[in-house]
Amino acid sequence: MKSAQDRLAVPVRYLKGIGPKRAALFHRIGVESVRDLLLLVPRRYVDRSRVLPIKNLRVGDEATVIGRIIASSSRQTKTFKRLVTIRVTDGTDTIEAVWFNRPDLVNRFRPQTEVMLSGRVTYYRYRQMVNPMFEILEPGGEFSYTNAIIPVYPLTEGLSVWTIRRAVRDALERFGSLPETLPNEVIASYGFPDIGEALRTVHFPGEVAQALRARRRLAYEELFYLGLLAALRRHHNRQIRRGRLMRETGQFTGEFRRLLRFQLTRAQERAITEIREDLAGDTCMGRLLQGDVGSGKTVVAVYAMLIACENRLQAAMMVPTEVLAEQHFRNWGALLEQVGVTAALLTGSTVPTERRRILAGLVSGEIQVIFGTHALIEQGVEFNQLGLVVVDEQHRFGVLQRAALLTKGIRPDLLVMTATPIPRTLALTLYGDLDYSLLDEKPPGRWAVETELVSEARRGEVYEFVARRVSAGEQVFVVCPLVEESEKLDLASAVETFQRVRALFPQYQVGLVHGRLAAQERQQLMEDFRSGHLQILVSTTVIEVGVDVPAATVMIIEHPERFGLAQLHQLRGRIGRGESQGYCFLMISAEAPAEYCERLRFFSETTDGFLLAERDLELRGPGEVLGTRQHGLPDLHVADILRDRELLMQARADAFRLVDSDPELKQPQNECIRRTLLAMHAERAELLGIG
Ligand code: ADP
Ligand code: MG
Repeated sequence: MKSAQDRLAVPVRYLKGIGPKRAALFHRIGVESVRDLLLLVPRRYVDRSRVLPIKNLRVGDEATVIGRIIASSSRQTKTFKRLVTIRVTDGTDTIEAVWFNRPDLVNRFRPQTEVMLSGRVTYYRYRQMVNPMFEILEPGGEFSYTNAIIPVYPLTEGLSVWTIRRAVRDALERFGSLPETLPNEVIASYGFPDIGEALRTVHFPGEVAQALRARRRLAYEELFYLGLLAALRRHHNRQIRRGRLMRETGQFTGEFRRLLRFQLTRAQERAITEIREDLAGDTCMGRLLQGDVGSGKTVVAVYAMLIACENRLQAAMMVPTEVLAEQHFRNWGALLEQVGVTAALLTGSTVPTERRRILAGLVSGEIQVIFGTHALIEQGVEFNQLGLVVVDEQHRFGVLQRAALLTKGIRPDLLVMTATPIPRTLALTLYGDLDYSLLDEKPPGRWAVETELVSEARRGEVYEFVARRVSAGEQVFVVCPLVEESEKLDLASAVETFQRVRALFPQYQVGLVHGRLAAQERQQLMEDFRSGHLQILVSTTVIEVGVDVPAATVMIIEHPERFGLAQLHQLRGRIGRGESQGYCFLMISAEAPAEYCERLRFFSETTDGFLLAERDLELRGPGEVLGTRQHGLPDLHVADILRDRELLMQARADAFRLVDSDPELKQPQNECIRRTLLAMHAERAELLGIG
């Protein structure tokens, strides 16, 4: 017999009222199986008894109203948009609602139909709502009497609350007698409803508070199992005896310290100590090193690589772009040679003869440290004894890529770094199974970059400033935004900026870098800028400026409103790396909305990357903060990393505590957890040591 969990994997198309067409609509909101459907938790609830009478609505209110349609029309606007308008009454007064470009709505808004509208009240001849959320309430349906709580589901054209409710009701009837998925103790201590009740009440609540309690339980459960997987993975990794210890002998690190032209910060020393202890243990290291831009993560990683070399092991550092790989090699290669360690660089642009030489050196063990890009995980790259893997800007690699590099060695240790500071909740969700080191201190003597918002009218002043800095021997970045959808437009605007800047400064050398250039051309330009042949560099992409040029002190960012705060911070981190004060100018175009200006003002006043990332997370969501689609965030159905921050911390702590006390989930009170986990992740059970 199939277990209850297996039965929940049934596709929704087997439910009442769902044919292939509706199944496709469900698919669009990520609902494939009965489980997905049951976990399609309403985004919010409208308590019909609290809905405002239309006569009380004031312009600017965020409101929900329920009423009957008394008129509906559709017409073309002067700008050829299709405009659908309805007028609604609830007996106290009327309000208008309009939708742009939704011709499909005309047929659904028949006179006399009861609708619920949610949105901001505006005014244009009448009080109205523009593109409000809406729900058509069926005549005689369950919401047509007062006091009903109306759930608001994620909106998809063509899927009404009715379709969803009917399917959910059917699912609950047929599959609803689910075995409990959380231990009684947890349920009791949090005052949660049991699983069956929780699922029933999120979809069919008697009152809003009850629904929110049920949602909380489901969110907790989701986060708990996420935490549990991380805890088990970590526990499991710690079980693997790697059969070798790494000791810092000082053979290389001693000389390295002497040759460094600076003193390590206390935070760097602390991180090195944590890493040293990991390496000296008998279990594999899995550690995340976090720190704001410029906090000096690289030197910590290089130090760890030297410890590996002292133990006759090889170390590899993988970074996401060639520019960064080259930079690391340039910055550290020579120093490594000086202390007696052979280092090399391997990227997609490495010429064949050089590549052959490097591959041979890696196999023989002659090359001890390798810097590189994805090229490192290609087939044919083999190591003699790879003992340490460092992954920089981890979130730009997939999990698989990180794993691929690890398989090049025999149980190598892993150090992961993120270039973007990421908020703790996000870090825990992404790297929940890793230990954590934080560089919470910046090297001394670093001037904070002065950041200023500049209106178009003051552009001239900025250029005058640029002229003064350049004549003093300093260098300037001009950054144009990357609009992913249209590389062409990007390029056009960058070229335009380049021409303008060049015309303004005929006495200086101005360069233009963009993603369309061949790797070699790009490298040459970067090299020319670094060496000072170019004084001003106009650049399109963020990646190209992930570069260390100590004499660069000024950065002009065009269209800063198109960047996230974390990204801007990353950019700004490129200047003021030398001895001189850095200046960052954000050019605000006249059409930039006020809310962006406010956000940018916050940015100009804040130098703490973690704070900025936190704000970004609130404003733009996790995917945007990490700046990539393939960010490896888990798919959460119910919980929301932002809204449920506290719950995340609690659930995680509970899960780790549980694994500490019962790593194989053998105790009777944990039986339900074990069963649930096995059903959800059967394929991974053995890996996790609970199979
Ligand atoms: P990030 O953490 O952003 O990756 P990097 O490792 O690139 O930072 O370091 C930024 C710059 O600071 C580099 O030029 C590096 O040589 C320098 N640096 C690192 N540690 C120190 C220190 N303790 N004192 C002075 N400069 C340092
Ligand atoms: Mg870095």
